[in-house]
Amino acid sequence: MRAIRFEQPGRLNLVEVADPTPEPGWARIRIKAAAICMTDFELLRGRHAVDYPLTPGHEYCGVVDKVGSPSDEKWLGQRVVADNEITCLKCGFCRRGEWRRCAQYRQIGFGPSGGYAEYVLAPVQNLHPLAKAISFEQGALLEPLGVGIAVSSIAGARLGSTAIILGMGPIGLNCLAVLKASGTRRILCLDQRPKRLALAKSWGAAEVAENAERLKELAGSLHPDGTDVVIEASGFHPLVTLGIELARFGGSVVLAGFCKHQALPFEPDVVQGPNRRVLGAGNNAGFIEPAAYAAGDGVLRTEDMITHRYKLEDYRQAFSEDQVMASDYIKGVFVF
Ligand SMILES: [Zn+2]
Ligand SMILES: [Zn+2]
Repeated sequence: MRAIRFEQPGRLNLVEVADPTPEPGWARIRIKAAAICMTDFELLRGRHAVDYPLTPGHEYCGVVDKVGSPSDEKWLGQRVVADNEITCLKCGFCRRGEWRRCAQYRQIGFGPSGGYAEYVLAPVQNLHPLAKAISFEQGALLEPLGVGIAVSSIAGARLGSTAIILGMGPIGLNCLAVLKASGTRRILCLDQRPKRLALAKSWGAAEVAENAERLKELAGSLHPDGTDVVIEASGFHPLVTLGIELARFGGSVVLAGFCKHQALPFEPDVVQGPNRRVLGAGNNAGFIEPAAYAAGDGVLRTEDMITHRYKLEDYRQAFSEDQVMASDYIKGVFVF
C-alpha cells in the first residue's frame, strides 16, 4: 500500500509498504477519508516527542476489509470510524477511564501507523459504525468533533451559559458547533482570518471579532456579568491571559490549544481572587462515539469546515507551510 511517512522532522515521503495484516482482535480499515490536523504539522516540525519514521493520521474513517478473528467477521464491509487509543483495558487506570496513564498506552497516528495511508489497523473494540447519513468526509471529522465535545464538557458549559472562543481553527469551530447545539448563548468568537469568522457566524456565533479590543467591547456589552466559559483554542499563548481576564467570577477558562512550549508571565491572583477555574483539555479520549451519534442523527455536522481536498500523492502540497497559512485554509482532507 501507499503511505505518507514522516522520515524525521522536516522530511516526508510517499512510500510503498506491505499491506498490514490484522492480529486476532484487530481489524484492517481501507481508508476513505483522512483529515489533516495541526498536530500533524507539529509532528513534522518536530515539536512533539514521537519516534520517527512514522505514518501519522488520527482523523480517518473507512471500510473494514479484513479482521484477525473469525468472531469479528460481522465487521467486514462496515463503514467505520475508530478510537485511536490502544490500552490494556484491565489496569486500574483503564478501569477508571484514565486511558493515557495506562502503561501500555499507545495512540494510532503517533506510533502505531495512522490514517495517511491506504489501510490502517485498529483494535475491533475501538470501532464505531458510521451511520448511513454520514459521508466519509464527515466521518473523518468525528475525531476533532469529539475533541469539541470533550472540551465543552470540561468547560462545564450549560444551557444558557455565555461563552467566548479564542481562535476559530478546527478546534475552535468544533467547540462552537458543540456549544451551540448544547444551548450555550451569545457565543463570541475571535480570529484574525475573515473566512473563519464568516464560518463561525454561519454556525451561530452571536458576534465575531478580529482583534482583542473589539472582543472586549463585545464582551462588555453582550456579557455584562462576565463570561461563563472561555475556550482558548488558538495555541497562541498571550490569549491565555486574555481568556482569564474575560472570564467572570467563578467562570472557567479551558486551554484546548497547544502553546508550543511558550512560557507566560502570570499573576496567580487573577485566578485566586475571582475563583476562576483554569482547566487543561489537551488530551481527551472516548469522545468519538458521542460525536458519531450526534453527527449520525444530524444534531451536529461540521463538513463545511473542509476547504481543501487532496489525493495521497498531493502530500507535499497538503503539508506545506504556505498551504496551511493561506487565508482561505481551514481544514484539509485526503480523499481516497
Ligand atoms: Zn487532531
Ligand atoms: Zn491499562
